[in-house]
Amino acid sequence: MTAQTMEELVSLCKRRGFLFQSNDIYGGIKGLYDYGPMGVEFKNNLKQAWWKSMVYERDDTEGLDASILSSPVVLKHSGHEDTFTDPLVDCRACKSRWRADQLFENNKCPNCKSEDLTEPRPFNLMFKTAIGPVDDGSSFAYLRPETCQQIFTNFKNILDSTSRTVPFGIAQMGKAFRNEITPRNFIFRVREFEQMELEFFVKPGTDDEWHEYWINKRIEWWVNQGIKKENLKKIEVEKNELAHYSKRTVDINYVFPHGEEELEGVANRTDFDLGSHTKNQKDFKITSEVMKNSSSTTKLAVQDLEEKKWYIPYVIEPSAGVDRGVLALLNEAYREENVDKDSKRILLSLKPHLSPIKAAVIPLKKNNEELVNLSKEIKSNLQKLGLGRVVLENSGNIGKNYRRHDEIGTPICLTVDFETLEDKSVTVRDRDTMKQERVSIENLSEYYKKYFN
Ligand code: ATP
Repeated sequence: MTAQTMEELVSLCKRRGFLFQSNDIYGGIKGLYDYGPMGVEFKNNLKQAWWKSMVYERDDTEGLDASILSSPVVLKHSGHEDTFTDPLVDCRACKSRWRADQLFENNKCPNCKSEDLTEPRPFNLMFKTAIGPVDDGSSFAYLRPETCQQIFTNFKNILDSTSRTVPFGIAQMGKAFRNEITPRNFIFRVREFEQMELEFFVKPGTDDEWHEYWINKRIEWWVNQGIKKENLKKIEVEKNELAHYSKRTVDINYVFPHGEEELEGVANRTDFDLGSHTKNQKDFKITSEVMKNSSSTTKLAVQDLEEKKWYIPYVIEPSAGVDRGVLALLNEAYREENVDKDSKRILLSLKPHLSPIKAAVIPLKKNNEELVNLSKEIKSNLQKLGLGRVVLENSGNIGKNYRRHDEIGTPICLTVDFETLEDKSVTVRDRDTMKQERVSIENLSEYYKKYFN
């Protein structure tokens, strides 16, 4: 079961501290959200899982964390200054603005239903900001609209500082900014978001095979995070809708509460980016239509040791949205269950590695010194195992604590009661089955480690 409506998720996220409207107390800003205490843990866990699978568990990748402010020259050569646009239409009747390709009823304003709309015109989605103390337009930067351009500009730095040879990849996670015309559907389409991107460099001619490999790998990864395979769709992007750099793109769509849309895109970006950013382009046989006459100081090419020739690698890019991942996984994990005739519970049946809180330690009686001290000791010992956040709940209301931890997806709750003082055991309650068992404190670390592995 998933959530039935987006409202159920929005309400849970606010109630339990996953997500808040940004700048809320001053009325909010559209298209911006803040991650609260549970949200930040969940998002970090998701990013960590991606990093682990992309960097730690592979032998052919490196990591990067580059700057967000980007030189206009980079984004000129990447094609973003000229082509990173959406078609904008104005409604002359109510003055609202829309993306022409997202008008649900053709040629009608979604707000007032007027048909008096302007012709679509290109609207560049990049945010600009001044660099330095004088804001006269002469020195500015863009907030990066995708994380990958700095991977391309660092290509040679990474080659020179490691011993990588093609095929290899560079992974990066971080913020990206797009001045979306109509941000909507909660955190699905926002103006500030995070991406997890891998640029995987391959020899031209092997690109189709690597593309297929990454499409399958990424679907498998989302399934491992807890998304049912049948809720993921592989969508071939039509030739006339491909981005300017792409030879072929396959979107991995997810059935969100508002409908099926893109969760991740896996593109074959060819030699477009490295070619566009490369010095002396004419020395290379570049197959894609690149920005001519780069002012770059560096050639972003590698040497083919057998043929003794320099070439520009092709790049396969799996590009996933962190926030869309958060939304999809919350939706997948959402359950509403009848506990008995009169009561219901909501729970997030998240995979334990993603849960914001790994375990809650609950003394049965609030402020009882013996129970609370023992609980603190247990909490601290579990925390030291380094598997994520463990909390102490000293409110004395077991029922309420269980409800709260069900709703934030805590896999286990440990209750320390008066019997614990005698038999040195605690009650462990499982989130999904609600089954309880006694586990001795002595074996708790082992039990806990096993649970999370
Ligand atoms: P869309 O067609 O939905 O606008 P896109 O094709 O422009 O997305 P890409 O440029 O392929 O998106 O970006 C890679 C990923 O970044 C997307 O799959 C998505 O998960 C995420 N992403 C892109 N734009 C946004 C946004 N405005 N808000 C949240 N995530 C986004």
